Amino acid sequence: LVVLGIETSCDDTAAAVVRGNGEILSQVVSSQADLLARYGGVAPKMAEEAHIKAIDQVVQEALDRANLTAKNLSAVAVTIGPGLSLCLRVGVQKAHKLAGSFNLPIVGVHHMEAHTLVARLTERELQFPFMALLISGGHNLLILARDLGQYIQLGTSIDDAIGEAYDKTAKWLGLDLRRSGGPAIEELAREGDAASVKFSTPMQHHKDCNFSYAGLKTQVRLAIQSRNINAETPISSANSQDRVARADIAASFQRVAVLHLEERCERAIEWARRIEPSIEHLVVSGGVASNKYVRARLDTVVKKKNIQLVCPPPSLCTDNGVMVAWAGIEHFRVGRFDPPPPAELPVDFMYDVRPRWPLGEEYAEGKSEAR
Ligand code: ATP
Ligand code: FE
Repeated sequence: LVVLGIETSCDDTAAAVVRGNGEILSQVVSSQADLLARYGGVAPKMAEEAHIKAIDQVVQEALDRANLTAKNLSAVAVTIGPGLSLCLRVGVQKAHKLAGSFNLPIVGVHHMEAHTLVARLTERELQFPFMALLISGGHNLLILARDLGQYIQLGTSIDDAIGEAYDKTAKWLGLDLRRSGGPAIEELAREGDAASVKFSTPMQHHKDCNFSYAGLKTQVRLAIQSRNINAETPISSANSQDRVARADIAASFQRVAVLHLEERCERAIEWARRIEPSIEHLVVSGGVASNKYVRARLDTVVKKKNIQLVCPPPSLCTDNGVMVAWAGIEHFRVGRFDPPPPAELPVDFMYDVRPRWPLGEEYAEGKSEAR
């Protein structure tokens, strides 16, 4: 079994070839970080154009590096949601073209499920049921994975995701955005004093497993304004006093942002145990999971609760094609895939993209519990 995975849901064009046994034959990511830095965020139309420009080459390179041609593939897996519709369509069209020409089945993949399942590639012992904390630019989810395709959502963000808060904080602190904001904050925070700025932890009065980062973002913005930090002055040109002030904010922000994760995870483990008493693992995935401080803090939480943390390596936490190929493999194995499309699709063919697509059902008892 050899599967090509294609990912275009947000700002990275990615493809990879993975074998059924989990062997990664190739992995290619073309990032739009430069575009993002210039325009300060993802503009769908621009992201779509960048995907269109990159997709053929990214897929070809993934095949070349795997020493394969499309003929050798067993199936094509592609992210069909959630994400930006314009962007998703680029990947889905490419998958259909390839699958049509080479008579390959297609597996439509849920982006957040792929972030979750990739942990089963890196940690071969990881069995269902397990828990997952998915933390990225667009999502903040606590999931109980009972079985393949069977998920219960224990918590989600009621506004922004943590990655968004990292990215905005980085922008307001004048950090170099040619790489994404998260790693820049992580690095600067090491120089700062995490106790110096008193940010309050979100949602203290909500005894549930949901998240909120909009309020923390506002607190950070106000702290930056009151210290006269100017985002127009890049950190590289800041004097030492200014640099310390910025580092203190980065460290204080990070401490509270992650404390919020810790508190919610602790509660979610208790909730999950009522449904599945045998859970032994918490998977942490999504871009923010590549953060070492995040990993270390969550490790103390799971130790206290007597379960194990499973963190894929950073290159598999941020958006990538491997996770899509792997999720495709898992579904393909149990017969969940679409038959090969015709080589010539009708011009008005409706591609199946699902820009909004929840992962599993909400945990209903959570609401009454929280009161
Ligand atoms: P989603 O998965 O919700 O659709 P996305 O695909 O944009 O969002 P990912 O590529 O999974 O997200 O993650 C990107 C996010 O991860 C960005 O917000 C980025 O700042 C953050 N991130 C990456 N590395 C780190 C890090 N070391 N520390 C904190 N945040 C990080
Ligand atoms: Fe993602």
